[in-house]
Amino acid sequence: MASKSVSLEAEDILLASDMIRLGARLQVLQAETSLSYDRLARLYREIRGVSPPKGMLPFSVDWYMTWLPNIHSSLFYNVYRYLDDHTPAKKSLAMVEAYRLYLEQSSVGLRPDDVSAEPILSFTRAWMLVRFFDSDLVQLSACHQCGGRYIAHAHDPATDFVCAICKPPPRAGKTRSRRKAAPVKSA
Ligand SMILES: [Zn+2]
Repeated sequence: MASKSVSLEAEDILLASDMIRLGARLQVLQAETSLSYDRLARLYREIRGVSPPKGMLPFSVDWYMTWLPNIHSSLFYNVYRYLDDHTPAKKSLAMVEAYRLYLEQSSVGLRPDDVSAEPILSFTRAWMLVRFFDSDLVQLSACHQCGGRYIAHAHDPATDFVCAICKPPPRAGKTRSRRKAAPVKSA
């Protein structure tokens, strides 16, 4: 019994350490592990050398719908979905792996010596995204031009969906093009 709980705690510490290195906020660590707030805050300070930031988590679904975040988030979520479905990794471990792969693929990278290189999709946002999927606020819609699957609001009609790569937003004249682009005829 004792050794089992010790190994569980060790697993939690490993998981929390991985997540802290990837930029997770303390609220994420509290949800994903059974470690106490004090233990997590101490771990955070040991690894990052600063106190964990305070304040609320980003909770807006709309952020994931803006074009660049949408591309990055969709890339991450497709990898996560694949790992969660096809490997024995638990949800949180699949998240860590998927996020590492996302950092590699997005080529923003997070070199330990370069704190200024911030990825578009933070670990905390990635984690929130998985929660939004779990609570059915978002869905994956298939782009009918490229066939890729992208994050969209749940229950959005998916028939005429075109992704942010196939149809990037114009740099100028936003409101006019948005109105013009709104009704898409099915080809
Ligand atoms: Zn597309």
